[in-house]
Amino acid sequence: MYTHYDYLQVAPDASLAELKRAYQQRVLRTHPDKVQQRGQAIPLGTTETKQDTGEAELFQRIHLAWQVLRVPEKRRDYDIYLQELEAQSHGVIHDEVHLDELTYDAEEHIYIQPCRCGGEYALADQDISIGADIALCSNCSLRLKVNYTWDSELPTP
Ligand SMILES: [Zn+2]
Repeated sequence: MYTHYDYLQVAPDASLAELKRAYQQRVLRTHPDKVQQRGQAIPLGTTETKQDTGEAELFQRIHLAWQVLRVPEKRRDYDIYLQELEAQSHGVIHDEVHLDELTYDAEEHIYIQPCRCGGEYALADQDISIGADIALCSNCSLRLKVNYTWDSELPTP
């Protein structure tokens, strides 16, 4: 599993200044406009659709990482999330679903999916705001990978 720190290629204890520098460097390399410019230089006949998709997602991930880690409260929440995952390191990903497939509890602001053990996977709005995409079962050690797209609005670095 790649963390926000991995996407920015920084250490988990990186300072805000280090994060910012790393983000700016990573953006320069992966910004869709830059990738497109590079693409134009590639000889005709080369298919690179798959690569484009990969690079666009990578850019989104890097942007998301920065949006979370730059805000101290969000970074703290994200660090707690990583600690929870680590504390339960024997957990295995049981399934991979899209967020739309989960049931949304509007009162609790939480997405829920029953686990086969009788417990349930839960992902709160707050988890989504920090880019968390692994839901832990409340009862057993299974995990659910939840896919969704983030706000891909481009930042001004
Ligand atoms: Zn379970």
